[in-house]
Amino acid sequence: MRIAELLSFARQAGVDRLDAQLLVGHLLNRQRTWLLAHDDQALTEAQTTQLRQQLQQRAAGWPLAYLLGEREFCGLALQVTPDVLVPRPETELLVEWALERLAAAPQDSLVDLGTGSGAIALAVQHRRPATAVTASDASAAALRVAEANGRRHGLSVEWLHGDWWAPLHGRRYGLAVSNPPYVAGDDPHLAALTHEPRSALTPEGDGLAALRRIVEGAPEHLLPGAWLLLEHGHDQADAVRTLLAARGFARAQTRPDLAGLPRCTGAVWHPVD
Ligand code: GLN
Repeated sequence: MRIAELLSFARQAGVDRLDAQLLVGHLLNRQRTWLLAHDDQALTEAQTTQLRQQLQQRAAGWPLAYLLGEREFCGLALQVTPDVLVPRPETELLVEWALERLAAAPQDSLVDLGTGSGAIALAVQHRRPATAVTASDASAAALRVAEANGRRHGLSVEWLHGDWWAPLHGRRYGLAVSNPPYVAGDDPHLAALTHEPRSALTPEGDGLAALRRIVEGAPEHLLPGAWLLLEHGHDQADAVRTLLAARGFARAQTRPDLAGLPRCTGAVWHPVD
């Protein structure tokens, strides 16, 4: 098949034109501008078969990042597989907040709970090489992806296998961050996200179970003056602030995402000032 024919196959299948060009360009290792100038070029049979299959997967709702095998997050090209949530642009705002807090943290250390692809931990380590970064995840398969991403970028994060705080017994940090599963179990939104690991998206129930566990365990693992920064659902800010206050955190702040919705809440453990 020629490139032009394949792109018209993609259009008929209902695939976004840019996505189709990115998939073809990825397989051929060419830029989009090259594709446009060479769309009469014939693809091999194997290339055609593979691309038709990928375009059909895309049409069926597979995230583009899984088909390309990577996604950019905070300027880092990260490997992503169906074992990890695709990093979302709004989570970059959590990284920005973490970087702001680290500058004033009681100790230059950070823990990222439920790291998935390693996105948050690696972005922080990349921007602040002197910070000691630890990350945990309950999924061994996700940790393998995170570790591979660390190697790919030459970043040394300590990866620990286990649920939330479980692998961090006896350790304290100057900053803790997490983008845990927070979608409610009956949220209709999940229907469009069936290709991503369900356990990374929802703790089931009201969507707050993971956030509760993280807040509950935090005081044992934070240094005085350390902040806990959490991503959450657009309608969970009040609930998260209540959890933090009940556990003894102070100075809660909530920040909006790219759509202006309240998306991250943080508070300080034992304010020192
Ligand atoms: N923000 C994601 C979504 O709604 C959910 C991520 C998460 O649960 N941590 O698609």
